[in-house]
Amino acid sequence: MTLRFHNTLTGNIDEFVPQTPGKALIYTCGPTVYDYATIGNLASYIYWDTLVRILMANDFEVVRVMNITDVGHLTSDADEGEDKLEKGAKRDGKTAWEIASFYTAAFIDAMNQLNLIKPQYLAKATDYIQDQLNLVRKLKDKGFTYQISDGIYFDTSKFPSYADFAHLDLDAQKAGARVEFNPEKRNHSDFALWKFTPTGTKRDMEWETPADLIEESDEKVMGFPGWHLECSAISMSILGETLDIHTGGIDHIPVHHSNEIAQSEAVTGKRFSNFWLHNEFLKVNGTKISKSLGNFFTLADLENKGFTPIDFRMFVLQGNYRNEGNFTLEGLAAAKNRLHNWRNVAALRHQTHDTIQADEEKNQNEKTVSLYASSQAIIEAISNDLGTPEALRIIDDSFTKILKARLKNINHQTLIKFLSTIDYTLGLRLVDSTPDINDDLKQLIIERNSARIAKNWDKADELRKKLLERGIVLRDNENESIWEYKD
Ligand SMILES: [Zn+2]
Repeated sequence: MTLRFHNTLTGNIDEFVPQTPGKALIYTCGPTVYDYATIGNLASYIYWDTLVRILMANDFEVVRVMNITDVGHLTSDADEGEDKLEKGAKRDGKTAWEIASFYTAAFIDAMNQLNLIKPQYLAKATDYIQDQLNLVRKLKDKGFTYQISDGIYFDTSKFPSYADFAHLDLDAQKAGARVEFNPEKRNHSDFALWKFTPTGTKRDMEWETPADLIEESDEKVMGFPGWHLECSAISMSILGETLDIHTGGIDHIPVHHSNEIAQSEAVTGKRFSNFWLHNEFLKVNGTKISKSLGNFFTLADLENKGFTPIDFRMFVLQGNYRNEGNFTLEGLAAAKNRLHNWRNVAALRHQTHDTIQADEEKNQNEKTVSLYASSQAIIEAISNDLGTPEALRIIDDSFTKILKARLKNINHQTLIKFLSTIDYTLGLRLVDSTPDINDDLKQLIIERNSARIAKNWDKADELRKKLLERGIVLRDNENESIWEYKD
C-alpha cells in the first residue's frame, strides 16, 4: 500500500520513500519533564503512535528515538529566562535531577496508559552531554559559532538556507525584535548551543565546558546545553546523519526545528530529515491550554471525571493531526460512548462460532458479514496521511452491519481478525478490554432464554434484572439474545 504524509519540507502530501527499503528511522521531539504532560502534549504522542503503527501495518521495521528534555529548556524558547527544570525544582522543593526522574516516570506511565508503543530509544538529554559538546566542537571547527558573555551561539547568517524551512522573514524579525533579544547576539535568529552558568551561581545540572570550546578563560566555566542541541546530537548519535521522518508540534517549526536543521546540516552537509510531520494543537473549550486558564488537564484529571486514558485516545483519533482539535468534556463523553459500543461488538466474538464457511470471502452470501475489505480499507485510510477519522467511519459502518446480522452469520475467526486489525492500527485495546463472561452468568442467560421460550415472562424479567445487577445487558433479537456490557 502507498503511504503518504504531509511533508512540511515540501509543503505537499508526498509518497513516503525511506532511505533503506522496509525500514523507517523516526525521531520525535519528546517532553520537557518539569511537570505532568497535559492532554494537549499527549494528543501529539497519540498521533505519532498512529504513524508508527501504520508503518508497522505496512511491514516497515520502525526504529524510533524520542528524547526526554531534562535540561536546558528555558522558559522562553529564545534562550532567555529560567531553565524549566531548575524552576520546577524550586517549586517542588527538590533538585532538578529529582524533578526530571519523577516526571520522566510519570510520562512513561502516561504512555503505557494510553497504549503508546514505546520507542526503542527514550534518550535523556543529560545522558548525551558529550555528544552535544562534540557537536559544538564540530560547529566551532567549521566556523559556525561565536562566544558572548552568556554562552556559545550558532551564527545563523553563516547558514544561508536558515530561513527556508519555516519561510521566515528574517528582516521583519529584526525590525520587530522583542524585548528579550540579547543585544550581544549577532543576528536575531542566532541561538545558544551551550550556555554558561552565570557567575556566582550554582545550578543543579551543570557540566564543565571543555577548555578548547572557550575563548580566553583561565578558570573553569560551568555550563549546560541549549535546548535545540540535544535533538540533533541524540538523533545523529543513534540514527545517523539523515532521518526518514522527524515529528513534532507546529510550534516547533519556526525556532526549534529550524535550529535543529541548521546545526545538523552545518555539520554534515547532508539533509537532516527527508520528512517532517507536524501536528496542530489541541485546544480546550476553544482556548489554548495554559496553566493560568485552569484548563491544564492531565490524564489523572480525566480519570477523576470518570474517563479512561483509552476514552481520550478514542477522542483524539476522531480528529486529524493536521487539524486543530477542540477538547470538551461533552466530546470526550461521546468518544467514550462510541468506544463502549465498539467494545460490545468486540464481545460478540464470545457469542459467535465458526458455523459458516472457513473462508468467508470465497463463499460469501448475502447474509454473512464480510470484513476483509473493511480491514484493508482501514489500513488504506490511515496510510493516507494518518486519516484516522475515515478509518473510524469505516469501522462504524462495518459494526453497524455486524449488529444487524444474526449471530450465525458472523464468522468467529473473521471477527477476531478484524478486531485485531483495529487494535493493531489504532491501539484501542478492544480485545484486551472485553473478556468473556463467567459460567454463572452464562447459566443465567440459558435459564432466561428457556423462560422466554416457555413464555414465563415473570421469570424471564427477574433473570434479566439479575444479570443487569451484575453488569450484563441483554439485547433481544427475533430468535436470539445477545449479551452486552452495561458499562
Ligand atoms: Zn527537538
